[in-house]
Amino acid sequence: MLRIVCAALAAIGLAATARAADRPNIVLVFTDDHAYQAISAYGDARKLIETSNIDRLAKEGVRFDRALVPNSICGPSRATVLTGKYSHANGFYNNTNSRFDGAQTTFPKLLQKAGYQTAVIGKWHLVSEPTGFDHWHILPGQGRYYNPPMNLNGKQVQHKGYVTDLISEFSTDWIRKRDKSKPFLLMTQHKAPHREWSPALRHLGHDKDRKYPEPATLFDDYAGRGPGAKDQDMTLEKTFTQLDAKLVAPPGIDAEQLKEWNAYYEPRNKAFHEAKLTGRNLVRWRYNRYLHDYLGCIKSVDEAVGKLLQTLEDEKIAENTLVVYCSDQGFYLGEHGWFDKRWVYEESLRTPMLARWPGMAKAGHVDKNLTSIVDLAQTFLGAAGVAAPNDMQGASLVPLLKGETPKDWRKSFYYAYYEYPAPHHVIPHYGVVTDRHKLVRFFVPKADGTASPDYWELHDREKDPNETKNFVNDPAYANTVKELRAELERLRKELKVPETMPKEAYGGLFQAPKPKKK
Ligand code: CA
Repeated sequence: MLRIVCAALAAIGLAATARAADRPNIVLVFTDDHAYQAISAYGDARKLIETSNIDRLAKEGVRFDRALVPNSICGPSRATVLTGKYSHANGFYNNTNSRFDGAQTTFPKLLQKAGYQTAVIGKWHLVSEPTGFDHWHILPGQGRYYNPPMNLNGKQVQHKGYVTDLISEFSTDWIRKRDKSKPFLLMTQHKAPHREWSPALRHLGHDKDRKYPEPATLFDDYAGRGPGAKDQDMTLEKTFTQLDAKLVAPPGIDAEQLKEWNAYYEPRNKAFHEAKLTGRNLVRWRYNRYLHDYLGCIKSVDEAVGKLLQTLEDEKIAENTLVVYCSDQGFYLGEHGWFDKRWVYEESLRTPMLARWPGMAKAGHVDKNLTSIVDLAQTFLGAAGVAAPNDMQGASLVPLLKGETPKDWRKSFYYAYYEYPAPHHVIPHYGVVTDRHKLVRFFVPKADGTASPDYWELHDREKDPNETKNFVNDPAYANTVKELRAELERLRKELKVPETMPKEAYGGLFQAPKPKKK
């Protein structure tokens, strides 16, 4: 039913598309680990940063306030964007041992077939080489912040400079030199602000040694939830390394750059060593260092968005270009004492997503529906007037861009995370998310088919916005649990989730364990 209505609405959308914007260009600006808390348009209470260029997309287009990811981790999100499918359907579950099957159908391939020229520039992170792109210029694996080696259409190249600036320059150059007789798809995909959060040298000291407001859960004790929340390895307290803290220089930096890097970090690191901080004061120091570095990376991303929008104007194609900004997932900026992502909890489940499409997307509109990066493939195909395959698992956002919510738009969303135990020791889980609740099963599968531990959490964001309490055994929630259990089963059926996942889905879980680090 949803599919039929969505198809009808997509058809209405397409008729309008043909009138207002025949075969629009499509630009996806995709960042890695960009928390919505670090985009000023999202109005975080801590007021961490001004992102005036990214904010333009909210003013001139639509801000999606509850854009969710199906599996909150880098590679799987990228595979989801390309295929419009969940991890269990596209085969890319985790960053440990998954490899993207480039033979499967992706939206860039379908656009290419429909006459679009296609390019991906920046972070790829899907192990196999890109398919469906006329031009690709990608970082190997995670890539480096300074002087990154890259792969240009199959050839190794070495660059000098800062990674975000380079990806920005290569992307705008490609737009200027494109074949003007065809519409284009450009995926400009930043490494930033991924760990280890190294800002451009010009942005060191951007915050003038600001002391950042602390999130309410910086010193979370993890009581009140199942054992998984406590038994992870992603805290500022125990997981944050010397490299994360910039107590050692980042890889790839050259002697000349290092001088400038040292001029900022050395005196501050000296003061840190002399202070011999411990306990909460050490966590507080790390939190402030982390935010200086993380937000410094965002400054370059925001500049890159500014340059991109300017290039579209210079080329006189801004009016006929759909620009979407989003991250591969959200990120913890100290909430629950964490950095990193992975959890179904809000900061990593939700990703920033903004879209501008002049004459089509309603300027200044805020969409509060449950949307997702799994919808992007069908959105881009819909915008281009290309039919989406029936086995894609999202829905086109085109009506939502116009401020119209289809009557049967999703009211619940399925989430599943797999990678375990390394890195970060986040317990695998799956569950159902609604506007208010989350009902989630956390479990470590065993080779004999049982699981241990194996428990459920119910969260109520209205009663407990920080998600520190588990209501699953509260009698007042008995009906909610029952309804959500049924909804979860319905979603698993609809999405064809297998009862038992293949063992490789879980990364290193069924391989010989590595010695546990102290
Ligand atoms: Ca990521």
